[in-house]
Amino acid sequence: MRRPLISGNWKMNLNHYEAITIVQKLVYTIPNETYETVDVSVHPPFTDIRSVQTVIEADSLDIFLGAQHCHWDDHGAYTGEISPVFLAKLDVDYVVCGHSERRELFGETDEMVAAKVEAILRHEMLPIMCVGETLDEREAGVTEDKVLAQVRAGLADRSAEQVASLVIAYEPIWAIGTGRTATADDAQAVCAAIRSVVSTDWGSDAGAAVRIQYGGSVKSGNTTELMAMPDIDGALVGGASLDADEFARIVQFAAG
Ligand code: PEP
Repeated sequence: MRRPLISGNWKMNLNHYEAITIVQKLVYTIPNETYETVDVSVHPPFTDIRSVQTVIEADSLDIFLGAQHCHWDDHGAYTGEISPVFLAKLDVDYVVCGHSERRELFGETDEMVAAKVEAILRHEMLPIMCVGETLDEREAGVTEDKVLAQVRAGLADRSAEQVASLVIAYEPIWAIGTGRTATADDAQAVCAAIRSVVSTDWGSDAGAAVRIQYGGSVKSGNTTELMAMPDIDGALVGGASLDADEFARIVQFAAG
């Protein structure tokens, strides 16, 4: 049985004071028993991670700590980059990689994403690897070609055990931050195709175990419908995760 994972991607929002406030608000808004059926991660900007980690550890919170990306090398002359070693030292659990904003705005390639996936796993954290098509690609009917190629490229050289442990986030680019959501049936079809490729390339155990999130304008109003889909195991939530009450509602709807 796959545990759903709801992840809040705060992008370049919330300073460390605001981040602490939102985590504390989540704690008293989400009932403790919710964490029995759903995993929750928050992905603050790098400058907030230490503050959020302190709150999570001091109060033994059931929230997983996340990051939004990292470099693939441990150390070196990469001005402005963050090493996976630093994130592991802060007890980060999940690291988003290959987000479409990183791919489109900062030139991340499939090869870079694959190197990040390897580095994140090497430091005993779990990747949330994002894949997704543009509107032009969807309209041209090549959604699955694009997405499945990204899955194969990003996970190339990873073992079946590694693939079974990680998270793939299917995020149609045209649905991110636009208020447009893929219909639950369309999202399910792509997530099922992803699971099928994982089963074919890494074995049926990996296919059955890998968690696949949907991302793209997820709100409390569409969570139940998306989560009812057999191949959708959670959500990567951007805008709606900046509002603690709304994010808490999404978590609770995901818990069922
Ligand atoms: C995201 O940040 O990955 C995302 C899906 O954003 P939003 O929920 O705002 O569309």
